Amino acid sequence: MNKLIIFSAPSGSGKTTIVRHLLSLKKLNLAFSISATSRAPRGEEQHGKEYYFLSADEFKKRVQHNEFMEWEEVYTGCYYGTLKSEVERLWAKGKNVIFDIDVAGGLRLKQQYPEQTLAVFVEPPSLIALEERLRNRKTETEEKIQMRLNKAEQEMATAHQFDVIIKNDNLQQALQEAERIVTDFINR
Ligand code: ADP
Ligand code: 5GP
Repeated sequence: MNKLIIFSAPSGSGKTTIVRHLLSLKKLNLAFSISATSRAPRGEEQHGKEYYFLSADEFKKRVQHNEFMEWEEVYTGCYYGTLKSEVERLWAKGKNVIFDIDVAGGLRLKQQYPEQTLAVFVEPPSLIALEERLRNRKTETEEKIQMRLNKAEQEMATAHQFDVIIKNDNLQQALQEAERIVTDFINR
């Protein structure tokens, strides 16, 4: 049975870093679920690689046509969602699918596929550390950083609803823990 591995966390916790590490481990047979979003590409991001970049109108049209497994307005005016066609594409290749999605979307997918899904919450050591990481990443404007921090507190309160919590303080330890947990789930 193909598995779903969900990584959710407040923005800046280190999900992308951990997910990239797991994707590099061929034995896990993972493929990344490319989400659709209505936000603009950032830096070197490419359509069909990090995201499928859609206009807000196109996104809403697809919502109306019931094309999403889950979707959320993660930040005001910015829509993100998992297309059914994306997961079907990866399942058809026999892959386990790994997701980097927000906490609400993650919990929604877990409800849809409770047995075949591992839902992981990545916890930053503190809100202060989260703020530092977001600033150091230098990808966001001050307004966007504030938007992300405002949301972080309420996201942290959902951690207990996930199957496991990985605290990302020391990165090497977090990577090892993620590797162990995902390997156990896939081989069980
Ligand atoms: P997310 O995908 O959750 O938004 P990222 O993986 O982009 O988070 O990480 C946010 C920033 O923090 C990046 O610049 C990343 O290199 C850095 N980072 C990740 N893990 C750690 C850690 N354990 N200690 C310090 N910095 C980290
Ligand atoms: P970013 O703009 O930093 O790429 O992502 C912002 C947030 O949107 C992150 O928390 C990310 O996990 C979330 N996100 C990305 N794709 C999806 C998706 O398909 N569905 C949901 N619900 N959230 C997503």
